[in-house]
Formats: sequence, C-alpha cells, structure tokens
Amino acid sequence: MSEALLVINSGSSSVKFAAYDVLPDEALVRIAHGQIEGIGSAPRLKVWGSAGTALANQAVSISTDPALGPQEAFAQLFGWLRAHAGGRTLRAVGHRVVHGGEQFAQPTRVTPDVLARLDLLSPLARLHQPHNLAAIRAIAALRPGLPQVACFDTEFHTTQDWVAQAYALPRHLSEAGIKRYGFHGLSYEYIASVLPAHLGDVAANGRVVVAHLGNGASLCALQGRRSVASTMGFTALDGLMMGTRCGSLDPGVVLYLMTGLGMSVQAAEQLLYEQSGLLGVSGVSSDMRTVEASGTPHAQQALALYAWRLRLELGGMAAALGGLDALVFTAGIGENSASLRRRACQDASWLGIELDEAANAAPTHGPRRISTAASRVAAWVIPTDEELMIAQRTQAVLQGAAAQEVGASITA
Ligand code: AMP
Repeated sequence: MSEALLVINSGSSSVKFAAYDVLPDEALVRIAHGQIEGIGSAPRLKVWGSAGTALANQAVSISTDPALGPQEAFAQLFGWLRAHAGGRTLRAVGHRVVHGGEQFAQPTRVTPDVLARLDLLSPLARLHQPHNLAAIRAIAALRPGLPQVACFDTEFHTTQDWVAQAYALPRHLSEAGIKRYGFHGLSYEYIASVLPAHLGDVAANGRVVVAHLGNGASLCALQGRRSVASTMGFTALDGLMMGTRCGSLDPGVVLYLMTGLGMSVQAAEQLLYEQSGLLGVSGVSSDMRTVEASGTPHAQQALALYAWRLRLELGGMAAALGGLDALVFTAGIGENSASLRRRACQDASWLGIELDEAANAAPTHGPRRISTAASRVAAWVIPTDEELMIAQRTQAVLQGAAAQEVGASITA
C-alpha cells in the first residue's frame, strides 16, 4: 500500500497543512495542501488538490462550533484525508516548530520528554511555539503511535560564527543560552537549496541576502548557501518591522514602558508582539495588502518606516557579507508586493541593484529575476516552500531511524 506524509504548520487561529505521496523511490509529490482557518470563530477546512491529482479545490465548513479546538480540527482533517487520499497509509507527521533553543539543532522525533523540553522554549516564541506544540499534542492524542517529527526554524542558523550569535552581555548569560538564534530557517533552507537552479552555481554560492517578508519578517545573509547572519535574534521579535511586531528596539524603551509608564510585563509583551509593526504604526491593519490599499497618512508612514527598516537591515547584512551578489525576495509580501520590492531595490541602488521595472511589475508567479541584465547585483523573487523542506527532513529522520534499527538488528 502506498504511503503519505503530512506536514503541519500550526498558528494561533489557523493550521496550514500539506500532504505528500511517498513514491516507491522515496520521492515526495505533493497531493494536496490547505488550511484550517477560523479556529475559535467559524472553523473551515480549505483544501487545494495539486495539479494532476483527482482532488478538486474545496472549502469545507467543518463545524459551526466556535469553540472547536485543535484536536477536533485535526480529527476533521484526518477524516478528510482518509476519505480522499486514496487508501494511502499515513507514515508520519512533520511539524514546523519555531524554537529549538540550544538543545535541538536537528529535526527530532517527538517523545514526551522532547515535548516537555520544547515547552520550556515557549516564552521565547510566544506567537508560535505554544500552537506548534498544541498541534503535536492533539495529533498524539488522536493517533497514538503515529511518528511525529519536529523541524526547527532555528536549525539553519547554527552555522553562524560565535560573533554573529553573541550579545554583548555578561558571559554567564550567553553561557545560559541568551544569544541570537535566528528564525525562518526552514524557508531559508529551501531557498538555499534551489538557488543554484536559478542563479547558477557561482552566484548561488556567493554573497546572497534572502528577504523573508511575510507576517513575520527577517533577512538572512548567506555565504556558500550557509547562514552567516540574520536579523532575528533570541526571539522572533528582533530585526525588521513586521505585521504586528516592532522589530529592533532600543532595550531602554522596554525598560521605560515598565518603569516609566507602569506597564506590566504582560502588557508590554502584548504591545511589542501584537500591537506594533504595520498595525501599530498605520492604525489600519497588520496586513500589507490592506495597508497598501488604505492611503491614509498613517498608512503611508507605516510603509515608509517598513521600507526604511528594511533598507538599514539590508545594509547590515551586506556588511556582514562584505558585499552583495544577489538579493532574493520571498514569502507573502516579498513574493507579491511589487511596490515594496520596487522601493527596497531603489533604496539598495547604492549596493549595485538596478531594478527591471517591467519584470518586477509583471503579474507572474514562480521564480523570476527582477533586476536588469546590466545590474551588478541580481535581484530575484523565489517563492518559498517550507512545507516541502519539513517533509524532506521528516522523511530523513524516519529513514535514519529505520537505518539505525536495521543496524541494531544486524549487530544484535
Ligand atoms: P505570509 O506570512 O508569508 O503568508 O505573508 C502574509 C503577508 O503577505 C500579509 O501581510 C499579506 O498582506 C501579504 N501579501 C499577500 N499577498 C499580497 C499582495 N498581493 N500584495 C501585498 N502584500 C501581500
């Protein structure tokens, strides 16, 4: 019987998923992807069948119960897969887990002990980690014994030098794990893996900055397709301005919020994670499309500040690399907002980027070059695929475990 892999990327009110066929030669082919959205309000399961499969695009209302929790939502998803995935056996579930801390530098098969250690990292990624772990728990309760693998956003950055990861804090704090970890690693790993196919071997292995601009946003400086520096740090709050997160901030402001304005720790945390960024500055929305369409003076200021922060952080990444050969835009804003890319490339003209206006504005999807042929630094749009990365890493963990079991039975 053929097998399938399920990938889960679980957020606060939505769960994104992708299902893959595992072919006899172990190649992975995506058969469907979608999301459960509106958990806690009006839960709906949306499914898109991949080209060439029999699955039609569907939006299924899975419940009218606003209190539907993750476990019921996953039960619905498993039910749908059973009915539509053509008799395949589910081999495993791979999860995006945002923070692996110091202990998890590799994708890891989840056990109760692993879950308990990942719980301790929740305060460092409060928008994501609790939801990532809730999904693992919900699936463990529904399907005990089904292998689950955690793949970490922090892993890709473990190649960085000490100096790129350190804060200038007393030594005992860095020894206790207070350092820069960086995030969006699964996205960067995917982009790094496809760079040679698009840029060619030489440029792909040169000095490349990838701009992952989605609800969360960060930059990663790559040299030889390995992470050298990133704008996110100890938590996913650092660096660029985001949908609701402030990005880099003088730590004195945080102290002042609490000691000068009498804000509680929880109120300050909520302000910085959930009420700042595009939402806080524009007063309109955390969603780039809405802010771009709004036209209010505050929305214009939010866009100007977003671009300004990007300009400064890009300069920092180029400095870390000692120059720049290519800039790659990815994720929701990076892939879709021609006006933001235009602004960013114009701001980076001093680095040698010359934008091809027509290529940038073309309503094309898929990987494409958006700089002129004469541009000293190439600018690209490359759609990311974190789900495929998770599926591949999950498969590798299972194959490794199987190889170990064979090794053990041979030596036993
Ligand atoms: P992600 O987190 O990668 O799903 O990205 C979400 C962000 O992408 C949101 O701020 C969206 O507004 C933004 N986005 C998606 N499509 C567009 C578009 N066509 N133009 C501008 N921003 C977009």
